[in-house]
Amino acid sequence: MRDLYETLGVTRSASADEIKKAYRKLAQQYHPDKNPDDPKAEEKFKEITAAYDTLSHADKRKAYDQFGAAGGMAAGGFDPGAFRDFASQRGVDLSDLLSDLFGRVRGSGTGGRAAPERGTDLQTSVTLSFDDALTGVQLTIPVEKDITCPDCRGSRAAPGTSPITCPDCKGRGVRSRNQGFFALSEPCLRCGGSGQVVEKPCPTCSGRGRAPRTKRYTVRIPAGVKDGARVRLPGRGGDGLGGGPPGDLFVLVNVSPSSRFERRGDDFLLDVPITFPEATLGAQVEVPTPQRERVRVKVPAGTSDGRTLRVKGRGAPVGGAADRRGDLLVRLRVQVPQKLSRQQKEALERYAVLDGGADIRAGLFS
Ligand SMILES: [Zn+2]
Ligand SMILES: [Zn+2]
Repeated sequence: MRDLYETLGVTRSASADEIKKAYRKLAQQYHPDKNPDDPKAEEKFKEITAAYDTLSHADKRKAYDQFGAAGGMAAGGFDPGAFRDFASQRGVDLSDLLSDLFGRVRGSGTGGRAAPERGTDLQTSVTLSFDDALTGVQLTIPVEKDITCPDCRGSRAAPGTSPITCPDCKGRGVRSRNQGFFALSEPCLRCGGSGQVVEKPCPTCSGRGRAPRTKRYTVRIPAGVKDGARVRLPGRGGDGLGGGPPGDLFVLVNVSPSSRFERRGDDFLLDVPITFPEATLGAQVEVPTPQRERVRVKVPAGTSDGRTLRVKGRGAPVGGAADRRGDLLVRLRVQVPQKLSRQQKEALERYAVLDGGADIRAGLFS
């Protein structure tokens, strides 16, 4: 597919005026009236018209700049379905706008018929305690979302009525307007390019075809889930329109941090204070695990501050598995006493005298 800017032969930073000028020049060149029986010129004309329609509207252009090629704008030329509802949707939020631009473009709408539109993806979030995140948990979450309006079944027309063919464009979705010596094709304003108009909007959904509802879904959060992970529930997003598939629901998982255990990938890091004699002589010390157990670790004699010991299998489940776990990293912190009794002080002074000969800073000056 061609880049819309390329199609018009302008740069991405082109001003609205430059875009307009480029379009007019190309439109004159390729207009079907000037190129009778030339399907290539007609195709080209449709392409530049579609490109112009997107780039000449600030909000559509912004959406295109942001999501560009992913949107698949009018690969096969001008697609009236792409512009359905657009005129009536000024002021909607960007996600709605994008779903209109891109969801509908994928449909094969040839005017007059509602193109299948995939439902929007939705996101919600949950906050888990540290313990629940470690063991995994099943939750029921409420989700506010648009479902196909039950009263009009998405047709947007009041029950008992149907949308009619747009009288202005006869269902084509585009109109020709004389502009000096050539005619311009543009999306029909009356029907917004859909080729259909609803005379009596459905009162339940105000003619939107969808209505908000709160749905409840059960979601299983896997054991060991990390803070910021997203769990996907396929098909639990917004309902599709015109037979399109539903979107997905994403559950963003926030995990409350522990005051003791710091997550490091699938491992947990725990700082454990030890005394100077324990560090020097070695010791067995008891430490807590994230699973709320107590385990004994052996501090080797001659341990320096910051040494880290590994307790196998006491970390987080790997990928939600019950049998594979990361480790608990025990980082030993040698504590320096802030206050000494007179006897302790004397003992240390005796120790210093006995230690006397060694200069541990000699290496700094060599
Ligand atoms: Zn309705
Ligand atoms: Zn129309």
